[in-house]
Amino acid sequence: APSQTGPPDAGDDGLIKVRDAAEHNLRHVDVDVPRDRVVAFTGVSGSGKSSLAFATLYAEAQQRYLESVAPYARRLIDQGSAPKVGSITGLPPAVALRQQHSGGSTRSTVGTVSRVSNVLRMLYSRAGTYPAGRTPEDLAGTFPRDAAPLDSDSFSPNTAVGACPVCSGLGRLHSVDDSKLVGDDSLSIREGAIAAWPGAWQGKNYRDILAELGIDIDAPFRTLPAERREWLLTTDEQPTVTVHPVRDAHRVARSYQGTYMSPRRWVNHTFATSKAAHLRAKAASFMTGELCPNCHGKRLKPEALEVTVAGQDIAYATSLPLAQLSAFLDAALDHPDTRALPAERRQAGHALIAGLQEQLSTLTDLGLGYLATARTTSTLSGGELQRLHMATQLRSGLFGVLYVLDEPSAGLHASDTELLLTALRRLRGSGNSVFVVEHNAQVLASADWIVDMGPGAGRHGGRILHNGPARELSGAPDSVTARYLSADAPAAPGPEEPRKPREWLRLRGVTGNNLHDLDADFPLGTLTAVTGVSGSGKSTLVRRALAQTVREHLHADGAEAGRPAAEAAEEEEDGVPAWAPAEDRVTVRSSAGLEHVDRLVVVDQKPIGRTPRSNLATYTGLFDSVRKLYAAQPTARELGYTASRFSFNVPQGRCPHCLGDGVVSVELLFLPTETSPCPVCRGARYNPGTLLVRHRERTIADVLAMSVEEAREFLHDVQPAARILTLLSDIGLGYLTLGQSATTLSGGEAQRIKLVSELHRAPRGHSLYLLDEPTSGLHPADVDLLVGHLQRLVDDGNTVVVAEHDLRTVAAADWLMDLGPGAGDEGGRIVAQGRPEDVAREGGTATAHHLARYLA
Ligand code: ADP
Ligand code: ADP
Ligand code: ZN
Ligand code: ZN
Repeated sequence: APSQTGPPDAGDDGLIKVRDAAEHNLRHVDVDVPRDRVVAFTGVSGSGKSSLAFATLYAEAQQRYLESVAPYARRLIDQGSAPKVGSITGLPPAVALRQQHSGGSTRSTVGTVSRVSNVLRMLYSRAGTYPAGRTPEDLAGTFPRDAAPLDSDSFSPNTAVGACPVCSGLGRLHSVDDSKLVGDDSLSIREGAIAAWPGAWQGKNYRDILAELGIDIDAPFRTLPAERREWLLTTDEQPTVTVHPVRDAHRVARSYQGTYMSPRRWVNHTFATSKAAHLRAKAASFMTGELCPNCHGKRLKPEALEVTVAGQDIAYATSLPLAQLSAFLDAALDHPDTRALPAERRQAGHALIAGLQEQLSTLTDLGLGYLATARTTSTLSGGELQRLHMATQLRSGLFGVLYVLDEPSAGLHASDTELLLTALRRLRGSGNSVFVVEHNAQVLASADWIVDMGPGAGRHGGRILHNGPARELSGAPDSVTARYLSADAPAAPGPEEPRKPREWLRLRGVTGNNLHDLDADFPLGTLTAVTGVSGSGKSTLVRRALAQTVREHLHADGAEAGRPAAEAAEEEEDGVPAWAPAEDRVTVRSSAGLEHVDRLVVVDQKPIGRTPRSNLATYTGLFDSVRKLYAAQPTARELGYTASRFSFNVPQGRCPHCLGDGVVSVELLFLPTETSPCPVCRGARYNPGTLLVRHRERTIADVLAMSVEEAREFLHDVQPAARILTLLSDIGLGYLTLGQSATTLSGGEAQRIKLVSELHRAPRGHSLYLLDEPTSGLHPADVDLLVGHLQRLVDDGNTVVVAEHDLRTVAAADWLMDLGPGAGDEGGRIVAQGRPEDVAREGGTATAHHLARYLA
């Protein structure tokens, strides 16, 4: 196929021309999109927006970039495969800004990503005030070299020269001590090699699960392959398998579903959440954890901490929210210490501060002024992280680049979205093309151009419904988006009747992050929306304080036993360990009304699995009924296959080459790992013996290749699979493939899958559902499906609390709690609460102002 390489011709028509795009569900799409514009790609979830913007345009730009670099370097980069497209002309080099956490270094911070840290370090190195006798002037010309003043690396806890030698720059000494997990490695697992496991039944359970997973529990532990030992001791995965308990001499036990937890995870989990003192004490004996006595958590070596600017060390500066750091630097210009510096160093200081102020204003303009430089990026939401990267790009001075962004409005309050739009226009203004995958009405209305895809999801989508200026979208036939952008856009489904709170759950004296002695009352038996600009304290109040309080109450009640594994896992990630420093902890002085809640369900956007083996079918539990179905077929009975034969976690049934992954990774020395479909099973994951069994002519591998919709027909008489599939398709996920690896699901998809996994369990008693921005990543049409489900949960007597920015959703809530007025220290208070219409009528807050137009 003819495909242009290199930059667009000088004399071309300013268009990126795509011909015959067929990646994923794209239906041989031809489309011309203007360069140097803000272009929004929209459409219901699964319609093909990302397939066009990321998997085609961005991927093609990457391919061309790779073709242009030396073959030697090319081999060092993960190349992926060329997108399925006939040709693309006029394509500039592209940069993708995504929301996903790279999962990279845990030491990455707001300061390292934005590069503010580098400049701050130079400032302390060159224009800092050193202790008497150690100033650069004092040391000029001295020998040996190591007597010289500190270079900027010495102010970084991530370098060998800067890090506190006691804690290696971590600030704390804590963690599971992996070396203690195994007591005697000459013993086998069955003989008790693993010291850190709980005793009695639970320890045997884990042992038996490992046996089911194909691990030799009778070999001396130290003889197991190193990789296996490491995995079973430390993994965060929690595979669930059918356990056929190892039979003791005289007893035969029944099989059951068992979920694995590695010793490291068990220790963390028990220490963070267990109420039983003896269990916590046992867990603690496998950990170490305390504030570093040398640096007191400041992470730097003592010499670096002695250097100050305006009387403060660099740890102080990096702990300030960016907006306050800016004020601090401003004041530093006039500080007596700065004025006392020799002229040359003083001038260097002024220049560095001027540069820093520019960087800081870009970050503050994107609504990130409440973040501190030292904040680790792993604690940021996807939206915050993406805006942080955007700020870096805004200052990079690149032009002629195509930026592809993934829902940049995620996590932004309506009043912050204006700032985002300004930033996008700035990127465009400096000669770049800005393509966004978006649903937000404000962003769509202000885009120069809209590519609307659909009409449906998966094979019902993949076509272009509108390609033109935003104002012309209203005329597009078939466009679901057009309906939602019009003046008489449909409202999200509201309650049948206005609901009255049945009871109240009251928290008193909530303190943590930016909340100080806050009182908050949540109405039970209603849908409550917690709103506020990002950084105002919503997550701290809902995900931390409320969840933690309810959880502690339920544990004390002994309700722990029956909890589903997904929930238990959730809990561990949210629970902040008791040894966390005081400022990371959220405390609640007292509470009332907890007795009205029987069960807590936290549904968030965290990925649902990190291995290619977890997928939609395994996560929701529907695969269990599929495996039973296959085991009940005549062929399976003849061959003596049980349901476990159809699991790709057990050796008998799976492909021996890829061990059930369906893909194999190709590891080459010094080169990145590549994956490709397994050459033996061709991605089927099973061995030929397993595939002999058919139901209605299809093998179990064929079932995994079906979409939810197809499977719903195929399995219509198989419960509970049919019920789960119906729920999935009702919530807008009918287009997903059962076997699609969990690692390729978006946050929004993952959250809805978690919700379905909860919904299909028979409701027992009164549940409290907590959701964090459930609408992010969703088209308004999908939002309506989701909100409809939430309303039904409330109709069934449950309580739903959502932290949310989407005002159509907020308008459909029974109750609204608005936090603010600002972010960080300027937020943390309840500025308005009541029924949405009352809050909007009252006015006076940013939310009220924007909400008014969504209420009839
Ligand atoms: P959108 O961005 O509009 O939500 P996508 O482009 O992500 O939609 O998905 C369009 C279709 O392509 C869906 O049916 C989806 O399941 C499928 N799809 C997306 N990513 C992959 C992938 N990596 N492999 C196979 N199919 C995929
Ligand atoms: P929202 O959910 O409204 O965006 P958050 O509750 O996440 O707000 O944040 C409230 C304040 O607490 C912000 O100033 C934020 O920077 C701070 N904060 C939140 N999480 C952490 C954390 N893990 N470590 C330090 N500060 C945090
Ligand atoms: Zn230290
Ligand atoms: Zn295979």
